[in-house]
Amino acid sequence: MRITLFLICAIAFAHPWEQPASPWPPAADPDTRVILLGTGNPNPEPERMGPAVAVVSGGRVYLVDCGPGVVRRAAQAGLKMQQLTRVFVTHLHSDHTAGLPDLIFTPAVTGRLEPFEAYGPPGLHAMTAHVLKAWKQDMEIRLHGLEPSVPRAYIVEAHDVKPGEIYRDAGMRVIAFAVKHGSWKYAYGYRFEAADKVIVISGDTTYSEGLIQAAKGCDILVHEVYSQKGLARRTADWQRYHAAFHTSGRDVGRVAAQVRPRKLVLYHQLPMGETPDEVLQEVRGQFDGETIYGNDLEVVR
Ligand SMILES: [Zn+2]
Ligand SMILES: [Zn+2]
Repeated sequence: MRITLFLICAIAFAHPWEQPASPWPPAADPDTRVILLGTGNPNPEPERMGPAVAVVSGGRVYLVDCGPGVVRRAAQAGLKMQQLTRVFVTHLHSDHTAGLPDLIFTPAVTGRLEPFEAYGPPGLHAMTAHVLKAWKQDMEIRLHGLEPSVPRAYIVEAHDVKPGEIYRDAGMRVIAFAVKHGSWKYAYGYRFEAADKVIVISGDTTYSEGLIQAAKGCDILVHEVYSQKGLARRTADWQRYHAAFHTSGRDVGRVAAQVRPRKLVLYHQLPMGETPDEVLQEVRGQFDGETIYGNDLEVVR
C-alpha cells in the first residue's frame, strides 16, 4: 500500500523586524514560563540533553530547537504529547536538530492529535522532507497496518521563514531575528511575546548587535555561553572557531548589560573545564542583574 507523504511547504515572507510595542495581546494570566529541556551542547553529557527550550503559555507549548533527548525531557517536565505541536528551530546544526525525527514521530505514535508545525531558517523544509522520506516504511506500517493510529498527527508543515513576525495565535506572537553564528548563512534567535511576559532565546550566536536590539525590554533572556578563561587553554584553531560562532561569558554580560532583562539564563554552556561559578563570574563582571546557570528541567518565570 502506498503512503502519502504529508509535507506542506510554506515560505513565510514576514515583514522586516521592527521594535514591537507592547506585548501581544492583552489577556488573562497565561503563566508564561521557560522550561529548559536541554541545556547541553554537542558533547554527550549525561546530565544535559541537546539544546531544547519550552516556552509554555496559557497551556500552549512553543518549543525552541530539538536537540537529542527533547521528547523524553518534555515528558519528564510534565508536558503532554498532545502539546508538542510546534517547534521553532534556530539553525540547522545537528546538536539542535538531531531530535527532529523524535519530535515528529514519537508524539505522533503516542498521543498527538494535531498536525506538527516546524518553523526555521531556509533548509528546514528540505531537512523535514528528508526525515519523512527516511521513515517512510515506519509510517506505512503504522498508518496502514493493525496499529490504531491518528493520521492527522503525522501531518508535518515545515515553514522556511525570514526574520520578522513569523507566528501569531490568540496568546502569543513570535518574532525571528538574525544572529551571527560563524559561517551559517541563516541562524535565528526568537522573541516570544505573551500578555504577561517577553522571552528571548539566543540560539547559537556570537556577540550580536541584532540580538541586543531584538531583546530590548524582555523579561527573560536565555543566552548561550562559553568560558573565556577555559577557551584560553584550547588550541588556536578552536579559539578561532569559538570566537566566530559562540559568545564568551564576558560578552554575554555585555549583551545583558544593554538588554537589561529581569532574568538572564545561561544555556548551551561550554565551560571548557571551568565551574559554573567561574562562568557566572565572567558574566557578572559586566552585568549585575539576576543570572542563572541553567540546568535541564529548570523552570524560570
Ligand atoms: Zn549548538
Ligand atoms: Zn550551532
